[in-house]
Amino acid sequence: MQKMTEQEMVEGFQDALKFNNIYVCYQPQFNHITGRMIGAEALMRWKHPIFGVQMPSDFIPILEKNNLIYDADIYVFEMVCKSQRAGLDHGREIVPISVNMSRYDIYNNDYVKTIEEIRKKYNVPVKYLRIEITESSAIGGTELISNVLKELHSYGYLVEMDDFGSGYSSLNILKDLEVDIIKLDMKFLQGNVGGRGGIILSSIVQMARWLDTPIIVEGVETIEQANYMKSLGCNYIQGYLYAKPMDEEAFIEKSNQIHHEVMQPAINLIDNLEAGKFWDPSSLETLIFSNYVGAATVFSYDSIDEKMEILRVNSKYVEEIGMGRTEKEIIKVKSWSEVDDENKRIYLDTVKRSIESGEEESCETWRQFCTDLCGEEKICVRTDMRVIGKTGDTYLFYALCRNVTDEKRAFDELYKSERRFRFASEQANVYAWEYDIASKEMRPCYRCMRDLNLPPLLKNYPEPAIEVGIFPPDYADMYRDWHKQLENGVGTIEGIIPLTVGRVPFHVRYSTVYDENGRPLKAYGSATLVVDGEDKADGEKGEESGQENN
Ligand code: C2E
Ligand code: CA
Ligand code: CA
Repeated sequence: MQKMTEQEMVEGFQDALKFNNIYVCYQPQFNHITGRMIGAEALMRWKHPIFGVQMPSDFIPILEKNNLIYDADIYVFEMVCKSQRAGLDHGREIVPISVNMSRYDIYNNDYVKTIEEIRKKYNVPVKYLRIEITESSAIGGTELISNVLKELHSYGYLVEMDDFGSGYSSLNILKDLEVDIIKLDMKFLQGNVGGRGGIILSSIVQMARWLDTPIIVEGVETIEQANYMKSLGCNYIQGYLYAKPMDEEAFIEKSNQIHHEVMQPAINLIDNLEAGKFWDPSSLETLIFSNYVGAATVFSYDSIDEKMEILRVNSKYVEEIGMGRTEKEIIKVKSWSEVDDENKRIYLDTVKRSIESGEEESCETWRQFCTDLCGEEKICVRTDMRVIGKTGDTYLFYALCRNVTDEKRAFDELYKSERRFRFASEQANVYAWEYDIASKEMRPCYRCMRDLNLPPLLKNYPEPAIEVGIFPPDYADMYRDWHKQLENGVGTIEGIIPLTVGRVPFHVRYSTVYDENGRPLKAYGSATLVVDGEDKADGEKGEESGQENN
């Protein structure tokens, strides 16, 4: 194959569509536990009659740059509908196909309406189609993409967040966008299972559980990776281990050979538990309790004196949460001796909630252990509990427990580092703000708002700050010029500026964040008090630039 130039691509694009040189490959997705197929992703291909097959990483950015990606994406969607229709007509069992939506498609207000028309034209039930959006769609704000998401949901499409965690402010995006499925790329691990990548992965998995969102893991190449993800509770897999992307014919053949199943939400709980059976050593419940679930316990709760008593734990509980104690020692522990008042309250609230709701309720609590073996240690335990029986004022509970200490710490880290990125932290003694280069809008941190009496949003920045005298008149032009430089893509600017009417010297600094095409998006400003020529930040230096979390 030979690489095509940008011009050759742009000029050849319409013909490529017309002669089906642009076409769709399919990469199936599997449940690693059952081996069944749960769906597939449609991937665009371009096979030029002379230059040969072009890689998406080469041609998609060019289509995006030249405003052609919309037509290409719509074309792919139509090809997928056509293929699904043919499958239904032939009485084949088909799986849902995920279609990629470029972040540039969101600027085209018609995207959702157009695909909806195509779907109707081919009369494909919406459950057989999914849309993949990427984190980068939220660059410049979540409003546009959030509207697209709502529109897609209103028609019944499930939406996947592609390449989750690959960059730009993942946690915030997850909070703002109610996606139905998260796609995680195995690149995250970068070959070191159990290391830092492992901790980040497992905290993302944990977060997804908190949000009740299933995960598909992409780029799984080895059985070790698949098993590792399974151990974290992620069983849905797409990757070379199971299958590479293949043309439609090969995909149909594969799909015909393999059983299918429907994706399930994150956690499955045992329904209709019969409490009595827990005491019967030969019952199915006992078998499940001892062998198949993770760490589990049965405990009683006296609603009059708020006492809890552990009645049974399984072997995984002893391993994971036992902290070196034997089963007997665990059961002997006095009510609440391992938790402080706050954690006791959290746990008790959860117990009460699940009595009221009759449903599964969850909490995370820190427990303090003091053992001969390891001295004092704190662990965080996630408990999913539900009532399984009642006698008088005593309730019987079944609980699944997980030691989430590492995830919890990693999550807090991650969360903190993102917050730090946006609002330099209080303790660091920094005033921070975010400057949106295109709109000239400035968003100050809480500290700026409080100490300088600023509103949450300043338009036409830096004029308002100059007007109220935060930046004194003799520095106004220099400061205006800084913003011109930022617009022109200058990455970092810094200097000492006497601020406010008090003319207190501050070290003022800007650093810029760019989009994938190298255009400047936002600049993060900070001001630190200068004392005798030194910055007076007492946080670690360079913290506020720790922006990427992978
Ligand atoms: P993506 O959406 O993240 O798609 C997954 C990519 O990972 C695919 O690359 C797939 O072939 C590759 N992959 C799957 N399993 C493995 C594995 O086990 N190991 C490795 N190393 N790679 C694996 P592909 O097909 O080259 O596509 C690249 C990107 O191009 C896609 O990344 C997507 O961003 C874009 N793309 C592909 N088709 C379309 C489309 O129809 N529309 C738009 N807008 N973008 C598309
Ligand atoms: Ca994708
Ligand atoms: Ca992906």
